[in-house]
Amino acid sequence: MDEWLARGLHGNMDYLERNRDKRYDPSVLVPGAQTVVVCLLHFDKSGRDYHRTVKSLLYKLEARLKEEFGEDIVSQTHQHIFCDSAPMLERRWCVEAGLGFIGKNHQLIHPTLGSLVHPGEIVINKPVPISNTQYPISEHCADCQLCLEACPTGALRNTVWDATQCIAYTTHHCLECQNICPFNL
Ligand code: SF4
Ligand code: SF4
Repeated sequence: MDEWLARGLHGNMDYLERNRDKRYDPSVLVPGAQTVVVCLLHFDKSGRDYHRTVKSLLYKLEARLKEEFGEDIVSQTHQHIFCDSAPMLERRWCVEAGLGFIGKNHQLIHPTLGSLVHPGEIVINKPVPISNTQYPISEHCADCQLCLEACPTGALRNTVWDATQCIAYTTHHCLECQNICPFNL
């Protein structure tokens, strides 16, 4: 990410330059953090605000965790439930949690849900043993190039995502590289 930012490929998303310490280390964002619990919600085409939907489900999950493990399982003083709302490398944690891989379209791809998903996280104060394994390489993009060919601007050229060329970041109306992806069919 440092390299990507240094090359200016983030365009006018200046906020990505800030809070990198928190972005790279959740325990700076939420003091006492030991585990990131990551959930994925499948894309809702109803137009509802997905942040609210994801967060309300995470609050329900938090309530159950507190019931079972005690109130102090989460920070009492810091916000610890996030959905696209904090300096948090959400896709990185999804990959770490075994929820998918990063495709050539630079989206998180779950092998059965595809890339039309929204991640949400609860940062908790207890270590949790995990048994997740990352998806084997055979399930990744392999020789597929469909998204690279479908991108109308070349924003996915050279194995990086160039936000300055990406229509989704200028007009917010482009899903070409996701609609063409076999994982979304
Ligand atoms: S959203 Fe559109 S412009 Fe942006 S990378 Fe995907 S296909 Fe290219
Ligand atoms: S379209 Fe093909 S190359 Fe692009 S992300 Fe999907 S599987 Fe990977």
